[in-house]
Amino acid sequence: MRRSDREITDLKEIMDVMQKCDTCRLGLQDEKVPYIVPLNFGVREENGRITLFFHSAPEGKKIRLMEQNGAAGFEMDTAHELIESDTACGYGMNYKCVLGVGTLSFIEDYEEKKEALSILMKQYTTNRDLTFSENMIKAVKVIRLEVEEISCKCCNR
Ligand SMILES: Cc1cc2nc3c(=O)[nH]c(=O)nc-3n(C[C@H](O)[C@H](O)[C@H](O)COP(=O)(O)OP(=O)(O)OC[C@H]3O[C@@H](n4cnc5c(N)ncnc54)[C@H](O)[C@@H]3O)c2cc1C
Repeated sequence: MRRSDREITDLKEIMDVMQKCDTCRLGLQDEKVPYIVPLNFGVREENGRITLFFHSAPEGKKIRLMEQNGAAGFEMDTAHELIESDTACGYGMNYKCVLGVGTLSFIEDYEEKKEALSILMKQYTTNRDLTFSENMIKAVKVIRLEVEEISCKCCNR
């Protein structure tokens, strides 16, 4: 990273940034150019390994591309704050941003799907009483992204 003063390397801090994000942009491999798709997500850290979870209807372009190639990139950001100035060059933006790559796979096991969906819900609500219907769990596609590389950059001017 060119501005290494802005790099965050502590895993706890990176997790904290990800837990404040509400959208993950997943970059999938299409024929000529990447296919970038915004998704809601959940995140888990276990023994230093980060896994992202997504859910989706079982069909569509992203699912087709995931089936063809499990290698994916992702990006998420939060804490946007516009810095205003009297000059155009003085304008800027504060942010916290995470980038990474990993390998996608589909979760087929019923209990694992349920756990992944609970992790996803935890990203958006503290309501622990939410339940999932059996039919919904069976119908929805649940995807994990095992993160292999990650970087985090925070700009706070
Ligand atoms: C903040 C946010 C959160 C979302 N969370 C989820 C989620 O958790 N799960 C989920 O399945 N979907 C989510 N979506 C919708 C998601 O971005 C896709 O639109 C959806 O998943 C369908 O993707 P697909 O590849 O199957 O598209 P398809 O229905 O197969 O359509 C393919 C074509 O439609 C266009 N297209 C698809 N999605 C978009 C888009 N978002 N914006 C503009 N054009 C598009 C593209 O041109 C693409 O080539 C979210 C969208 C936003 C903005």
